[in-house]
Amino acid sequence: MTATAPAGTSSSPTPATPARRTSPLTTALAQLSSAVGLLGYDDGLHQMLATPRRELHVAVPLRRDDGRIELLSGYRVQHNISRGPGKGGLRYAPGVDIDEVRALAMWMTWKCAVVDLPYGGAKGGVAIDPRGYSPAELERVTRRYTSEVMPIIGPERDIMAPDVGTTEQTMSWVMDTYSVNSGYTIPAVVTGKPIAVGGSLGRATATSRGVVHATAAALADAGTELSEITAAVQGFGKVGSHAARFLAEGGARVVAVSDQYGGVHHPGGLDVAALHTHVAETGSVVGFPGADALSNADLLALDVDVLVPAATEDVLDEATAATVKARWVVEGANGPTTREGDQVLADRGITVVPDILANAGGVVVSYFEWVQAQQAYWWTEREIEDRLEQRMRSAYAAVAQRARAEKITLRDAALVIGVRRVAEAHQLRGLYP
Ligand code: GLU
Repeated sequence: MTATAPAGTSSSPTPATPARRTSPLTTALAQLSSAVGLLGYDDGLHQMLATPRRELHVAVPLRRDDGRIELLSGYRVQHNISRGPGKGGLRYAPGVDIDEVRALAMWMTWKCAVVDLPYGGAKGGVAIDPRGYSPAELERVTRRYTSEVMPIIGPERDIMAPDVGTTEQTMSWVMDTYSVNSGYTIPAVVTGKPIAVGGSLGRATATSRGVVHATAAALADAGTELSEITAAVQGFGKVGSHAARFLAEGGARVVAVSDQYGGVHHPGGLDVAALHTHVAETGSVVGFPGADALSNADLLALDVDVLVPAATEDVLDEATAATVKARWVVEGANGPTTREGDQVLADRGITVVPDILANAGGVVVSYFEWVQAQQAYWWTEREIEDRLEQRMRSAYAAVAQRARAEKITLRDAALVIGVRRVAEAHQLRGLYP
């Protein structure tokens, strides 16, 4: 186990892997420091909250289809388990490292607490570009990774879900590997799995629905609504593609979207349903007929009302945040805004609906999926959608109310609420021994 220090405390242990200046971990630790400052916690509690409870680094040897052996690195970090089992996604991306997984695990802790789920926070990752591997190779990676982290996961210990680069098929392989080695079927060890093996209705689109509920709530606070606004969405994956669709269905004019290959722009509004068909046929939004090409950087700077970064971390830094013209930034991705970027947006009067609130819909329906699997009784889609909307709206209302009362940003308010709930659990349980 490796300790991670809160930024800027002289008594802190040195992190095993020094963070890059703009790394997600730097951002996550700075956010925590800000919340701890607002809450007035002492250094000891700060360090407890900054330090992952448990980390596992695993080697994942893979036999490629051509017979060569390749050695991959995998991680599972349980940042906090005070309020319940660890909960969080499994990411397959080439740049994954321990600090990124630590940051993502910490954000899961605050996210689960903000929407009041009985979970801690965790995250896993394998440093792999899944696009360069066959389905059979990805299955072997997933099964080997699962068996390596098996001692610390489980429905009462730590529950995985999809994240960047993983899918419901990945979750099915995790569930099967865990179940076969346990001797019976244990659907609740993962969420975001296919319906046919105990998944939940509404899970696949839950993050995006939550993003749109959060957007609608933020707009309502300013006396406006979806049908009055224009939007740009960065990222057209599991979160961005459905967020664009639900924004358009809610009446918003979605004028631009992008993916890792580039973006498309149509000031009159994109036909998002036709765009989904284009992506299914070509693999990218690029080349969508009737729209102009634009870069990811230009998308961030578009003159729209709402900007939804739904791709990856650190895209809104000091320089790019200065170019944003949107009035609201709704964070579909985890950690899209650096600390410096956040300050620039706040100084410019741009409202940021923070990731730990805006994209919490995914883990909310993960929780519903886990509850259903534990009961072996499945709810209707209507029940799930209604409960999701109610959770998102009440979490938003609590955060917005706190932000107003204390004259702080929505990010700080969400962090204060999440961090406080976790600290309260620590304090009530007491320190053992
Ligand atoms: N990977 C998603 C997230 O970052 C979902 C996590 C979950 O459902 O456990 O929120």
